[in-house]
Amino acid sequence: MPELPEVETIRRQLAGRIPGRTIARVAVADPLLVSPEDPGEFAARVEGRRVESVGRRGKYLLVELDSGDTLAMHLRMTGRLHWRAADADGEEERFLRARIDLDDGSSVTFGDMRRFGRAWIVPATLADRDGYWAARVGIEPLSPRFTGRVLARLLDGRRGPVKAVLLNQALVAGLGNMYVDEALFQARIHPLRPAGTLDDDEIRRLHRAIRDRLAAAVEAGGASIDSYRDSLGERGTMQDLLRVHLHEGEPCPRCRTTIRKTRVAQRGTYWCPTCQPEPPPW
Ligand SMILES: [Zn+2]
Repeated sequence: MPELPEVETIRRQLAGRIPGRTIARVAVADPLLVSPEDPGEFAARVEGRRVESVGRRGKYLLVELDSGDTLAMHLRMTGRLHWRAADADGEEERFLRARIDLDDGSSVTFGDMRRFGRAWIVPATLADRDGYWAARVGIEPLSPRFTGRVLARLLDGRRGPVKAVLLNQALVAGLGNMYVDEALFQARIHPLRPAGTLDDDEIRRLHRAIRDRLAAAVEAGGASIDSYRDSLGERGTMQDLLRVHLHEGEPCPRCRTTIRKTRVAQRGTYWCPTCQPEPPPW
């Protein structure tokens, strides 16, 4: 599933290609993509508009239009966006849900095997945009505002497992199962530790690890462990740099102890029993 680094990779690619272009035509192949909006009304709001910029909040991709509307997209499990140049040939999107044609002949397709992805309009008339996004996503972990002190405040007093707290998009935006496993391993913290029990040093390590792993993943163009491809159809390389996630039964790269797998917050969770000692039974 695409997490912050994968969506950021797509954002950067599109941001270098589609701003300044006008959207000539939108064809919604799967009405569920824009539900509950009517596909015709959705297309009418987007067609003829010029793309101003491409932004991101957490795992949401935001295409800003000259009407002031925002075309928001979320890829969920298997969604992918593919940009093609005007003269590009190559294979058609197999699981096409929508196609956006730009005025220079280039196009962006939204493909999605499992159909959990969504696209919708955040209208220019919405008065409280900051409030709209604040209700959905918390702080951006790669922004300068995300400090150790901020993380400490988010964890403070919470009894839930630190992994579950980090997966909560309303607290920290864009972290998913894979990068939480990797950050907790780097910080040497067990995923089941009650969040509020981390001491100052552990919080410092965790803060550093979250930023370090996300930055490494953005640098690597994301991780292609399943269907993820970037908007040029290429695989990322972060999957080669994962240290514990999906490495059950293999030796820990730090201490050679066998990496284990369990479930935390209903998610397959990988950790090293030596580097990340079990919490005492509080
Ligand atoms: Zn280890």
